[in-house]
Amino acid sequence: METAAELVARIEANEDKMRRSQQRELRLLRSDGLEGLLSELLDGLKSSYGLPYVSVVLCDPDHDIRHLMLASGVPLEKFDRLLMVDSIAGLTPHYAALSQPWLGAYSACDHQLIFPRCGKLASVAIIPLLHRDRLIGSINLGSDEAARFTRELAADFLQHLGVIASFCIENAVNRARLLRSGFTDVLTGWHNRRYLQIRLLEELARARRDRSHVVCLMLDVDHFKRINDRWGHVAGDAVLRELASRIDAEVRASDVAARYGGEEFVVLLPDTNTGAAERLAERIRAAIASGPFTLPDGDSVTVTVSVGIAAVCPDPGDDDLKTAGDALLARADVAMYRAKSAGRDQVAVGDVA
Ligand code: GH3
Ligand code: MG
Ligand code: MG
Repeated sequence: METAAELVARIEANEDKMRRSQQRELRLLRSDGLEGLLSELLDGLKSSYGLPYVSVVLCDPDHDIRHLMLASGVPLEKFDRLLMVDSIAGLTPHYAALSQPWLGAYSACDHQLIFPRCGKLASVAIIPLLHRDRLIGSINLGSDEAARFTRELAADFLQHLGVIASFCIENAVNRARLLRSGFTDVLTGWHNRRYLQIRLLEELARARRDRSHVVCLMLDVDHFKRINDRWGHVAGDAVLRELASRIDAEVRASDVAARYGGEEFVVLLPDTNTGAAERLAERIRAAIASGPFTLPDGDSVTVTVSVGIAAVCPDPGDDDLKTAGDALLARADVAMYRAKSAGRDQVAVGDVA
């Protein structure tokens, strides 16, 4: 029979287990965005359970979550134990009926696909992630102790963790989707000014760390008002869309292009020198000026842009990147106005700060 002292010890141990479990779940609920949540799931759980291995499988058939992560700047290469799969079929036999956590001995044949590069494990827990009662993946805990996860263990804490984690994932994905819709320009499908301002801060932080430059091209359509005045706003819109697509064709995937305002576009070139930026600006200018734009009514019009270039190499001690970013945009704007007053349809380079 259990003595009173043993009973107290058991109750205390249970309370301690419950407290730690609640803390884990609170950290998931408080995590910041998709990146913070993934860090909590992969690294946070690993250290709080004291395990050698944690992986997460997420079913993402339309690559929707992956694109949202990329668009939100989540460094996916950092999460090498996150498996985004098109379908969960065939990954492990447990997925056939996983409504509750499965605990038991590790078996390479059943588990290696969802525990990639796991080294030597003795026991595992596979916690289902559900979305509206449908299995969308799992959190996979691996231990090098055989007794850590056994079939006999009660798994209600793990079950609860799975429910909270599923909720947090759905929530973070929805929030990223909402944020992203607020970052897109409806007319051109390009990123908008809000997105640019956030990316600019990220690029400046990266440049400060790598001691590299960020170059900013500010493009403004010449006499755009005349197009609106003569052919109407719908024609003006068509010109803006065509303009965005001509600029797009010249820039690299790593460059950040955004519609900054009405007929103003910005391209940020990370890790580029002003010489290369000037050549790109010249290519964009020529791609716009060289062929007429066809308007919806069949007329065609020649469009030109003026481009201002500014560059910055943030100082390692500079902790006010917001001001550095505003100054970069302002200097590119000044250079752009120099190109305007020098006759338009040209590129002007500002000083490097
Ligand atoms: P400049 O060469 O000095 O830049 O002359 P501009 O006529 O291009 O400059 P201004 O800033 O006077 O005119 C810009 C015009 O762009 C005014 C505005 O109505 C128009 N505009 C802004 N956004 C849109 C849009 O989304 N669609 C259309 N059709 N016109 C727009
Ligand atoms: Mg303008
Ligand atoms: Mg203009």
